[in-house]
Amino acid sequence: MAMPDLTAPLSPHLTWGQWIATRHVEFVKEQNTDDPEILWNSRRTALDLVEPVFALVGRCHLTSGYRSLGLNRALKSPDSSAHRQGRAADLVPCEMDLPAAFQLLALSALPFDQLIYEVGWIHVSGARTQMPPRHQILTYFSRADGYQPWDPTDPRWPLT
Ligand SMILES: [Zn+2]
Repeated sequence: MAMPDLTAPLSPHLTWGQWIATRHVEFVKEQNTDDPEILWNSRRTALDLVEPVFALVGRCHLTSGYRSLGLNRALKSPDSSAHRQGRAADLVPCEMDLPAAFQLLALSALPFDQLIYEVGWIHVSGARTQMPPRHQILTYFSRADGYQPWDPTDPRWPLT
């Protein structure tokens, strides 16, 4: 089976190539998968979440979409990461500062499973097929505190 074309559109503003791009060159080849479930999840994530994020906060730089097992492990991300299945995107807004963009998304009706303020980027993921989105909104504070529910009244918010 032919591998997907890197220039093929995943959604109106994203190509397959952008979705699997990585600066870890040793994983470029294994990133280009033809697994039907990953292709389906990736398309769903791009259309249902990433495009609406662009519509709400403007253009964003996509720093990570789908991750092969090798790439995901190289990034020290757990094997259970939604990125592994093409269900997550890491985004850096180009037209708005990070806390403002996060707040806008957190208060939106977007059907995300998890929205995470990662200090440097925003992680957004969709639910597994047939599962309802949990709509969890989390903030990373520190290695010791880990992830906690987002609370805009917390004096530590926003971490920049
Ligand atoms: Zn992520």
